[in-house]
Amino acid sequence: MRKLIAGNWKMNGLREDGTALAKTIAERARGNDAPEVDWLVCPPFTLLHAVADQLAGSPVRLGAQDCHYAENGAHTGDVAPAMLRDLCCSHVIVGHSERRQNHGETNELVQAKAEAARAHGMTPILCIGETQAERDAGRAMDVLTRQLEGSLPAAGDGELVIAYEPVWAIGTGRTATADDVRAAHAHVRAQLKKTYGEMSGAQMRILYGGSVKPANAGDLMATDDVNGALVGGASLKPDDFWRIGEAAG
Ligand code: PEP
Repeated sequence: MRKLIAGNWKMNGLREDGTALAKTIAERARGNDAPEVDWLVCPPFTLLHAVADQLAGSPVRLGAQDCHYAENGAHTGDVAPAMLRDLCCSHVIVGHSERRQNHGETNELVQAKAEAARAHGMTPILCIGETQAERDAGRAMDVLTRQLEGSLPAAGDGELVIAYEPVWAIGTGRTATADDVRAAHAHVRAQLKKTYGEMSGAQMRILYGGSVKPANAGDLMATDDVNGALVGGASLKPDDFWRIGEAAG
């Protein structure tokens, strides 16, 4: 399966540097020596328009970091899926642990967002992952099961991507070992097959996220059932982001 290298810029970037970053990635991805991966960048809402302009005509896709589940209406500060589609987004991250933690997002809400994204022709990147305390208590796999059971969208048309992101590895510089990642991804794969059937479950990408860097990307991307990476900090450095893609290609 061709790997997806997705950059989550989080709450970073003003017009000048965000535009320059997108331009650099788009130019490299257009080149003949670009690795055989799918590229995606997910800037903050404020930069979607400017980044879309930079990516036009390049193979780099555009994603958002969140969406509301409603069509429109009285939801101050929120952004509807149709608005993202209108800005050429093909993907939207839902259920990132920073939203689950900082905004109290529940599995039920994440599921509604994932379904709304799909209804508008976008691919949700649905994030799951255990905390350090849950891992230490030997509950990591149970937590993943619970999150998947509660937040997977109903079977239907459209793509779905899962991102396994152990909370303790996000932005900390600590990475899960290849064995931990292999076990978690196998667990997720089994759950996807159980929910959507053998064939569909086998075709869905499962990304790893959590302090992915050029130095660890080779090992992580070579791990069974790892179909790409969701990259936070390193996606803001074009050379690092590129080298992660090369390690995956
Ligand atoms: C993320 O935010 O999804 C992430 C994985 O961040 P980082 O790569 O910085 O750990």
